[in-house]
Amino acid sequence: AFDVLIIGGGPAGAAAAVYAARKGIRTGVAAERFGGQVNDTLAIENYISVLETDGPKFAAALEAHTRAYDVDIMNLQRAEKLIPAAQPGGLLEVQLANGGSLKAKTVILSTGARWRNVNVPGEAEYRNKGVAYCPHCDGPLFKGKRVAVIGGGNSGIEAAIDLAGLVAHVTVVEFAEQLKADAVLVKKLHSLPNVTVHTNAQTTEITGANGKVNGLRYKDRATGEEHHVELEGVFVQIGLVPNTEWLKGTVELSKFGEIIVDAKGQTNLPGVFAAGDCTTVPYKQIVIAAGAGSTAALSAFDHLIRN
Ligand code: FAD
Repeated sequence: AFDVLIIGGGPAGAAAAVYAARKGIRTGVAAERFGGQVNDTLAIENYISVLETDGPKFAAALEAHTRAYDVDIMNLQRAEKLIPAAQPGGLLEVQLANGGSLKAKTVILSTGARWRNVNVPGEAEYRNKGVAYCPHCDGPLFKGKRVAVIGGGNSGIEAAIDLAGLVAHVTVVEFAEQLKADAVLVKKLHSLPNVTVHTNAQTTEITGANGKVNGLRYKDRATGEEHHVELEGVFVQIGLVPNTEWLKGTVELSKFGEIIVDAKGQTNLPGVFAAGDCTTVPYKQIVIAAGAGSTAALSAFDHLIRN
């Protein structure tokens, strides 16, 4: 059995693995795709001390750092079920999609999250070529340019307010008749001079040319009329979905499906910790996930020496 079994090999899982292995305890990582979301990222300019890198390079570095220690990396393995210990202090079990099962004294859940897509023509084609999902990450790339934000919930309106301070103009496109964000955010948004809001508007296409976004097409749902807005960037803000479906009924989740953790990364189950984008910790960023992974590993170690 592992002392620490980590599920997920993104920044949170890799950091947890390095911290656990450095304690000289038996450490394993099972991941569907080592590197996680970072694999899909182009430029990374906000991982402190690394001025600039790209996603694939960062993912390779995560793996190299983890492999520098005695860590059992089980890549391309999908976890399907977590089984709590039968009695206090007993072993936890994780069942894999390949039929195998892993046993461990402690488990760290770091399965990350995924952005919900709008699924319109152009979205996949221009991803990282004008289509973005994270204003904290990619906002500065659109300095002085025109962008749209798809989604009028809290994350969409926060993104629009944030971007309005950086870019030339922001167009907000919301499907529903009204923005769903908190009133205080909507009020702030309407006070900004360089923001246009279209509600009851269905995004139908993200247009582009020469490998770059050049506009967004939407349908006015009241009149059926189609409109085209010229711009250079589109931020899709219609939700971040934690990869925790497989934990429903086992670990306590928030109404958004995030694993509820305390300041030490402890879940409601003894010996089970969680870190990164799959948890209730706010702000989904690489540096935050890596920090949380370290916290979870140190907490797991603390749990081991006390039990
Ligand atoms: P993830 O990176 O999502 O990793 C999750 C891991 O769990 C993966 O290995 C996955 O395969 C695995 N997994 C999932 N389900 C299972 C399962 N059932 N069984 C086994 N394994 C499973 N952040 C920044 O700080 N700066 C940026 O510039 C930046 N740009 C971004 C650009 C894009 C396009 C995207 C999508 C995100 C960006 N982010 C950026 C956000 C950043 O990538 C995430 O915050 C970070 O990767 C979260 O790390 P994590 O380890 O929690 O989860």
